[in-house]
Amino acid sequence: MALPPDRIDRFARHIVLPEIGGAGQVTLAVAHVALVGLGGIGSPALQYLAGAGVGRFTLIDDGRVELSNLQRQTIYSERDVGHGKAVSARRWLANFDGEIAVELVDRRLTRDNAGDAIAGADLVLDGTDNFATRLAVSDACVASGVPLLLAAVGRFQGQVGAFAGHLPEEACYRCFVGDAFDADDCDTCAEDGMLGAMSGWTGTFAAMHAIRVLLSGKAAFGDPQWGRLHLLDGLKAEMRSFHIAKDPACRACGSTVPG
Ligand SMILES: [Zn+2]
Repeated sequence: MALPPDRIDRFARHIVLPEIGGAGQVTLAVAHVALVGLGGIGSPALQYLAGAGVGRFTLIDDGRVELSNLQRQTIYSERDVGHGKAVSARRWLANFDGEIAVELVDRRLTRDNAGDAIAGADLVLDGTDNFATRLAVSDACVASGVPLLLAAVGRFQGQVGAFAGHLPEEACYRCFVGDAFDADDCDTCAEDGMLGAMSGWTGTFAAMHAIRVLLSGKAAFGDPQWGRLHLLDGLKAEMRSFHIAKDPACRACGSTVPG
């Protein structure tokens, strides 16, 4: 596959990078990313992934845009208030780049529908703010063999990590958090407060990490770092990371069945 001249022009600053190059750009052009949660993380992630030339998105969110979202959810403007986030995000994408293919899912993901919603994706980026959805999405990723990029932010700490629990040696998100949170669907953002730039930092770092995953095996920048959780500390302005091991007894990806 060769990119047409206008696309080569659009992505010229990527293509000249030896770590991405023409092969990397073509890989992004045919990539399909499912974005779960179009909020403070999903908004900047979508902007940078669309800007990077990812060719197809599934946009998943059941919420509506509220005035208090505009402080950090950068794809929305005042005219979107009261409208669905998934529909508004599609409108942003259509204005930004008319060649990107889009599918919408404006339902909340659960154990029963998550598999259908992410079907066909090369990567799922989950930026939702509740554990029940994250675990349902993670389990669906393991079952479908789709990598998961998890991005979360609370106050001044962000977390970003890529998981490939479908692989025999790699952890899934459930290996990390366990089974205690399946019923925990409270949204904490409204109570905790959030500096917009903090969720933006986490979201753009997630976009960069998503590109690493998508380019794995295709370009030198590709390096998914499975199971490595990056912690972003907004108060100290520091980052650190640690590795999550696969739990052999994990309900979603483990090799030993409990009981
Ligand atoms: Zn697991």
